[in-house]
Amino acid sequence: MAGSPLIDDLRAALGESAVLTDPDLLRMHERDEADLCAAGTPLVVTRPHSTEEVVAVVRAAGRYGVPVVPQGARTGLAGAANAVDGAVVLSTVAMDEIREIDPVSRIAVVQPGVVNATLAAAVAKQGLWYPPDPGSWESSTIGGNVATNAGGMCCVKYGVTTEYVLGLEVVLASGEVLRTGRRTAKGVAGYDLTRLFVGSEGTLGVVTEVTVALRPAPAESLTLVAVFPSTAAAGTAVAEIAARGLSPSLLELLDQTHLRAIEAYQPMGLRTDAQALLLAAADTGTRAADDLAALAEVCESAGADEVYAATDAVEAAALLQARRLAHPAMEKFAADAYPGGNGGLVIDDVAVPRGALAALLDGVARIAAECEVPIGVVGHAGDGNMHPNIVVDRADPASLERGRRAFDEIMKLGLDLGGTCTGEHGVGLLKRDWLAREIGPVGVRVQQAIKAALDPTGMLNPGKVL
Ligand SMILES: Cc1cc2nc3c(=O)[nH]c(=O)nc-3n(C[C@H](O)[C@H](O)[C@H](O)COP(=O)(O)OP(=O)(O)OC[C@H]3O[C@@H](n4cnc5c(N)ncnc54)[C@H](O)[C@@H]3O)c2cc1C
Repeated sequence: MAGSPLIDDLRAALGESAVLTDPDLLRMHERDEADLCAAGTPLVVTRPHSTEEVVAVVRAAGRYGVPVVPQGARTGLAGAANAVDGAVVLSTVAMDEIREIDPVSRIAVVQPGVVNATLAAAVAKQGLWYPPDPGSWESSTIGGNVATNAGGMCCVKYGVTTEYVLGLEVVLASGEVLRTGRRTAKGVAGYDLTRLFVGSEGTLGVVTEVTVALRPAPAESLTLVAVFPSTAAAGTAVAEIAARGLSPSLLELLDQTHLRAIEAYQPMGLRTDAQALLLAAADTGTRAADDLAALAEVCESAGADEVYAATDAVEAAALLQARRLAHPAMEKFAADAYPGGNGGLVIDDVAVPRGALAALLDGVARIAAECEVPIGVVGHAGDGNMHPNIVVDRADPASLERGRRAFDEIMKLGLDLGGTCTGEHGVGLLKRDWLAREIGPVGVRVQQAIKAALDPTGMLNPGKVL
């Protein structure tokens, strides 16, 4: 394998050090963070530094009819970055240059491998802010965020990645370099190809440069915690917050399973007797205290047992940190539930209209009971975007089957409530069937036509999305 003509061509174009065939490394690049998704072993992992090198990788793979799987930091939760056997993995980790930060136009131009938190820190030095903040922000890349249209905690007020992508440079399957979008504050020329590539999960082209919009840094936020006797009561509070026209800068929900898992993972004094906890924040400067009081009042009238405001920025940061620990805490919960490395976590991602959040939460609790699987729920409640985390025993086919049934029931419930099968993690391998159900045969045909127009041989990230 190491001596194949394709690998020779890649080495000639990129140099030895950017073309990797070490078996351990190939294994490392087989999959992202999604549990229970199929993955293959790549032939080779490439780490191009420039657009020209990406072109060389795509052209070389095309010559030999070998698929190309783009990868960022592989923190994805839908199997979208999983390799297929014999593929060329195109890792963007070496494309990590912040090329420009322009405070007048309020934009930054970056290569795709820049880590979200690195960009956030760089623009903060100039009093600016890049809002999209996925929980994985300390490791996930801007290219991966663009390709999945990632959301995050502040998206309830500031919107998801696509709101901040002004323009892209993309290497197409043909090896041509396409520029989309603009760097101006306004611009409506032609079809909006930028939005087409955002969320396309590496199936339409390889993003090699991103122009993002920045905002002035927001005022420091005030944070509150509301503790509820049921998840549905917390859901009702969320709907009422929206109905009253309040605009929290953060509105997150943790259920009891998560509260207990986080407390076991890292004791922080959370109320583990609560059925649900809402974390809310207001960043409206001089109005923040009033806005926080209004949020507290809504939570109390929706049935919160206890509402308290963080006394200072340190306590607020600790509460946010508790929310950020949800993922590793649930992984440990699954590992403890099924020792010997058998604990698996199927991280679901469903979004419903905010008014249907209470019904979704009630429904997930019913599904957990009916399918006899533990399901913890956490998520961006203010967006109606929940992550029911299904705990399974990988070594027990019956447990896997019950987990699969629960997953499908949750997807069906989400669609029945007028929602979508993925609010932010994407379709990848995990949700292909559900995408087809959500968008219907005409939607599938149009999406397939777009794919065929841009990637006629299907070489880019095959088997994902459609
Ligand atoms: C602890 C944790 C918390 C998370 N929290 C959130 C959250 O709050 N919100 C959220 O939306 N997601 C979240 N995620 C999921 C994940 O972090 C996001 O989907 C993220 O955007 C993936 O970025 P990545 O760099 O890891 O991309 P990868 O996982 O490597 O790839 C994701 C997809 O993007 C494609 N891709 C990557 N780079 C390129 C490129 N340059 N050109 C074309 N395609 C490319 C890949 O082919 C794949 O389809 C979380 C994950 C973890 C592990």
